[in-house]
Amino acid sequence: MQGRKILVTGGTGQVARPVAESLAEDNEVWCLGRFGDLAARKALEARGVRTATWDMATDELGEVPRDFTHVLHSAVHRGDGKDFEEAARINAVATARLMTHCRSAESFLYVSSGVVYNRADRTHRYRESDPLGGAAPWLPTYPVAKITAEGVVRGLAEALSLPAVIARLNIAYGPYGHGGVPMILFKEMRGGQPCAVPREGQNYCNLLHTDDVVRQVPLLWAVARTPARVVNWGGDEEVGITDLLEHMSALTGVPVRLDRNDYSRETAIFDHDVRRSLIGDCSVGWRTGIARTLAALFPEYRDRIDAHVDAHKAASSN
Ligand code: NDP
Repeated sequence: MQGRKILVTGGTGQVARPVAESLAEDNEVWCLGRFGDLAARKALEARGVRTATWDMATDELGEVPRDFTHVLHSAVHRGDGKDFEEAARINAVATARLMTHCRSAESFLYVSSGVVYNRADRTHRYRESDPLGGAAPWLPTYPVAKITAEGVVRGLAEALSLPAVIARLNIAYGPYGHGGVPMILFKEMRGGQPCAVPREGQNYCNLLHTDDVVRQVPLLWAVARTPARVVNWGGDEEVGITDLLEHMSALTGVPVRLDRNDYSRETAIFDHDVRRSLIGDCSVGWRTGIARTLAALFPEYRDRIDAHVDAHKAASSN
């Protein structure tokens, strides 16, 4: 993608930051945010990204230009878990302001989440048309925030004739920010904390490496339409969380303690038919992607990880 004018929200976040940095090489990219993390703002600017302060809870878009060709709306107010009214209002109003402000754009991409699904069955492959109404006991306001914003995207895509895509992200991970759920789990392992897993079986997800996120954002923009298109957005492979923990342990030598209980944080797996038909397959396999991410974020384990990867390659070529 070249020569386009792109607006990104959530540009200091784990998902949108690598996208903004990569696109800034050949496009005019603006990031909006509060920039509590000044180092992240400076790093974005050093990569050629223009930044402007915007708090989605309170601010209009004022002096921000309007002539963007593409918008990536990745910022989220997840809420405090208690105030549903506030979570719904902030995400809905901010999304409405953005879409209205950028109504002449060619494409608007909203990053939603698999948390919107009513996830009753650990082995079901959720389709875009499946029942909504997800519950998240770990942060009950979060699914409400995402479902509410999805509604605004649907409504304004048609009311403003603004082509839109709602991409329901599974679990993104990679060497940015906190690294995603896998790296948060690794930090728990390293701290000697037990990792919560189900009593029987395991939770599954579709890990998506940020390299694929970066590559796929322009592809998603290209399939925006009115009415808004809804796409499940996850990695090709179904990854067991317990398998993930054991893989990270084998790579680094950090022991994993499994806490088999009834309250592990559930994940979901997606049906990929819509995504595959629109933007194709992913390019980073989860075992390789996790090894690369651990080596980038925890360099003290790099030699051990490299040795493990080499030994695995040698064994599989014999
Ligand atoms: P992070 O928690 O890493 O970042 C959140 C971003 O939102 C930050 O850039 C933050 O910017 C911005 N933000 C938060 N509050 C405000 C506010 N009041 N005003 C302006 N900006 C705000 O998020 P991720 O990158 O992990 O997630 C990005 C999107 O992807 C979200 O919409 C999330 O729901 C979705 N998603 C993520 C998944 C994942 O695996 N990471 C999985 C499923 C969905 P700043 O602090 O500078 O204001």
